Amino acid sequence: MDCILRQTRFLNAKLADGALADLTVTDGRFSAITPAANAATSPAGAVDLAGQLVLPAFVEGHIHLDTSFYGDAWRPHIPCTDGFDVRERVAFQMQNLGQAAPMEERAKSQLELCVGNGSLAMRSHVMVDAAVGLKHVETILGVREKYRALIDIQLVAFPQSGILSSPGTAELLDEALRLGCDLIGGLDPASFDRDVKGHLDVVFGLAEKRGVGVDIHLHDGGTLGLFEIEEIAARTKALGMYGKVAVSHAYALGDISADALAKAGDGIAAAGVAIMTNAPGNHPFPPVAALRKAGVTVFAGSDNIRDSWWPYGDGDMLNRANMIGYRSGFYEDRDLEAAYDVVSHAGAKALGLEGYGIAVGAGADFVALNAKHVPEAVVAVPRERAVYRAGRAIAKDGAMIG
Ligand SMILES: [Zn+2]
Repeated sequence: MDCILRQTRFLNAKLADGALADLTVTDGRFSAITPAANAATSPAGAVDLAGQLVLPAFVEGHIHLDTSFYGDAWRPHIPCTDGFDVRERVAFQMQNLGQAAPMEERAKSQLELCVGNGSLAMRSHVMVDAAVGLKHVETILGVREKYRALIDIQLVAFPQSGILSSPGTAELLDEALRLGCDLIGGLDPASFDRDVKGHLDVVFGLAEKRGVGVDIHLHDGGTLGLFEIEEIAARTKALGMYGKVAVSHAYALGDISADALAKAGDGIAAAGVAIMTNAPGNHPFPPVAALRKAGVTVFAGSDNIRDSWWPYGDGDMLNRANMIGYRSGFYEDRDLEAAYDVVSHAGAKALGLEGYGIAVGAGADFVALNAKHVPEAVVAVPRERAVYRAGRAIAKDGAMIG
């Protein structure tokens, strides 16, 4: 059988460890990484990266492809009447979505924003409730299929209106998983559904039935939120789901005592539960350094981009690393490297990605940008960058190619 290998060489790539290397990509994967040869002339067909920093493509660990208005008309933010209230925000969202451009168009705009900035793996939550049924899931499954060559997308069946509060949702979530969602989501079991056990029974019951991972939105703060995290960790352990469960936001970890946090961190690490943060503007958020020190996988996402929750978000995970570093008070190089790890390797671990990184055998999904090293990339967030998928250039300076 004839077998023609598609091979490309990338010369003079600056790696995260400072080494200058030549990279060979064969059929979309790194097949050789060698010290830069510094030949006087480049071999035909080779791409000279001229010392640009080469990083594995970023991991967008938490986004909502169905509810953003990016690329659509600007929707001014509507404030809650009496402090942050998830239920009220969901109502504003329903109102806004009723006037929005078609979901597929909006999802594509948001996807191209993320890919253009160098995220080639993503986890998106997709709303499932009694009012919208499976409409969002069906649309976003179609969008995922169309973009399969450009980005790997995991979808979470997300009960945006609660599970017990929205009768029929449990059955719809089960159907969403059958249709192709990869994980089961959840939402504030205590404050939204007011039944921690009942809510988690459905979430973990479906995870067990369908053999999928779990990623729960948890805004509940203080000891209430901590109790829910402990319950989630206990169920993760009981079901042998180490590495397959995430708690998104986990605000509670940002407003408990140092002693309570140390105990919680050990428990979360032992259960293999990952914590997602977007370093939100005005909320206490999980202390990234302390959790990482305890062995917890902390990953990140844009979460909301120009939607009914807030107007911010640019789909750039390097900028997210900058925000995480800024809000965490990260100044030393090793801390800036940690902020970068959250949006790259730790994200890959949380999402269970195979073959991630600049390594022989890994998929050649990478970003080349103008920075001397990772700490400089995190503080400078260079907008000029080239994005490669399986060794093929697909975006430049934020815009898709072709
Ligand atoms: Zn979210």
